[in-house]
Parts: sequence; structure tokens; C-alpha cells
Amino acid sequence: MRYIIFLTLLPALFYGQALDPRKLFIADLHEDVLESYFSSGRDIEHYSPGGHVDLDRLRKGGVDAAFFVIWPNPDKKTSMFKQAVTILDTLDALLRRNEERTGLALTPEQILALKEEGKTAIIPALESGTALDNQLENIDYFYRRGIRYWGITWNDSPDWASSAQDESNPAWRGHRGLNDFGRKVIRRLNERGIMVDLSHSGEQTFYDVLRISTKPVIASHSSVYALCPHFRNLKDAQLKALAQNGGVVFINFYPGYLVKDFNRVYQAARKRADVIQDSLKTLGREAYNAFDRSAFILEKVKPLYPDYKTVVDHIDYVVKLIGVDHVGIGSDFDGISLTPYGLRDVSKMPVIIRELERRGYAAPDIEKIMGGNLLRVMAAQNR
Ligand SMILES: [Zn+2]
Repeated sequence: MRYIIFLTLLPALFYGQALDPRKLFIADLHEDVLESYFSSGRDIEHYSPGGHVDLDRLRKGGVDAAFFVIWPNPDKKTSMFKQAVTILDTLDALLRRNEERTGLALTPEQILALKEEGKTAIIPALESGTALDNQLENIDYFYRRGIRYWGITWNDSPDWASSAQDESNPAWRGHRGLNDFGRKVIRRLNERGIMVDLSHSGEQTFYDVLRISTKPVIASHSSVYALCPHFRNLKDAQLKALAQNGGVVFINFYPGYLVKDFNRVYQAARKRADVIQDSLKTLGREAYNAFDRSAFILEKVKPLYPDYKTVVDHIDYVVKLIGVDHVGIGSDFDGISLTPYGLRDVSKMPVIIRELERRGYAAPDIEKIMGGNLLRVMAAQNR
């Protein structure tokens, strides 16, 4: 018994008192909870077993600042601008219904004031260049609606900037990087104090923006290319350029962006499952229903499946390459189909803190990673 007590106390004796996730300021830069609400209709205000984020689970995970992403769907027929407005209206209504525990926060001061009151700060963010509708004054409109960062491309490219997906497609014939209008967009975002988010941008666009941006930029939900070579991740040279600019990369939790080859194996398993399901259709409903698609796919990716420590490997890599001032958390919860073991939803966020402590990170550095860097880069937009 004595040994058990001694062993339990040991980490506290060596590293001091463990950080309390409820006291620490925690920010998650990218949550697709509104898209999850629109596509599934699930309850995002109270604990629900589906999805990754709701207001109850944000509290449980100790998340003080959650960026709720406005993502208009390019596959829909309606205008991207109008879709974005509708999603913002829905968010406003959600916030009005939950004033006792959340609030819209538009500045670092407002975010911290809400934390003091024990409330979750919600900050709207846009993830679509096409939602601009090629009208610069729409930047002012979205600023007034509370947008505080703008992902200038999603996988699709607007007319004035190329996405990572398009730049990596050899068949793509559109404009590469920023054109003249794109440079005007960046200047206007800088003037307004909206953070430029380069997570889905192609490399050409990334460097074109860094050349002209007068403010630090962010990558709201990207991981490290050297650990997982995927077009959505940032290469070492990009990370170094980001540090020069004073910007921050917020690490994405998607296994396909964390583990080399995961995405290839996962996509192949999904295709194989499609083929199996097609062939079972001819054998009747019973045979078709007996096939467990997700179990089949999970079995194939099992040897590569990451846990929460892999997320911290990416954080660690960025810290060693460019320093602790340039990394944070951008889970992409509700925008990703799989999450690492130990991080099934936003309520599990404290496991990241525990793992950083286990690796010997000092409290001030953990504070920067978990939220301090966001406050700094956000404050720098209005200087
Ligand atoms: Zn995204």
C-alpha cells in the first residue's frame, strides 16, 4: 500500500502539481459542429452520443474558446455567400438560447472575460474563399457578423487563390497562388483584423500570402508534413516561414493527417468495402446487412491507428523546429470521420495536457500551446 501511495505521488513530486484543465485557458481553433448539426440534425446544445462537440462536452473538456466554423457546401446549388449567412443566423440563435453558459467573443479580452464568468466563448470563423462572392465589401459584412478568421480556400479554390487540393492535382489548369484581386483580399483582411487562415491553401498561395501579409497568419487545422506527407499538412520550410511571420499552426487530429500511409490504406479499405457491398446486393438484403462496413474498414487500418500521443508528437515536432510560440490545437472535430484513440470527442481534450506534462513540458509552455498562442496571434491583428 505504501508503495502505491509513493508511486502515485511521484509525478507530482518531480513535476510539481499537475495543471488543472479547468483553470488553464484552452482554445480549439477548428470545430465543424455547425456542419454536423446541419447534416445530421443532432442536438449540439446538450450531451449527445453522436458527433464530437456539443456545449456540454465543451465544458467537460475544459475548452474555453471554441471556433465554430462556417462552411458553406460547394455541392449545394444555393450561393455560398447566402449559405454562410444562414449558418451564421443559426449560430446567433444557438447563442441566444444559451446565454447563461456561452457567449460570442470577438476579442481576446472578451474571450478571457467569458472564462472568468465560467462561460464558453464561441468565435465564428469562415472556411471558404468562394463565400466572398468576389466582393471585397463582404469582408466588412462578415467582420460585423463576428468572423475572426477566414480560411481563404477550402478544398475548392476561389477565382483568386489556389487550394492545396487543386495545386496538388496535375490535371488542374486554374490560376496558381494569389492573383491581383487575391492580394486585395489579404490586405482587406489585414486591415479589418480578420486572421488569414492558410490551412487548405496550396503552397504557392501560402507563400504569396506570407509575402504581403502585414499581420501574423494561422493554419487553423493542419499537421506536420514531415511526419505525415499529405497535401493538407505543412512542410518544414512552410513552418519556418510561418514562424518568421509570427504565425501559429494548430494541429489537426485526423488520423489521415497524423500517420504516414494511413489515408492511403483507409481510402483503399473504403473502396474495397464498396465493392463487397455491391456484390452482396445481388445476394439479398440479409447478406447485405450482415456485412459490418465500419468493422471491416477499422480492421484494415488497425495496424496504423494513432492515439492521442501521436497528436503530441506533431506538437513536439513543431516546438523543436520553430519553437513553442507557434503551435496550438485545431482538432477539426465534427469535420473528421475518425479520431485518435483516447480523443473520441472534445470532452477528452485534457489528455493532451497530461501527455505534454508527461513529456516534461513546463507549465508556461503548456499554457502557450493550449491557448496562449491563439490569444497572442488574435491580439496582433489589431496592432
Ligand atoms: Zn477543413
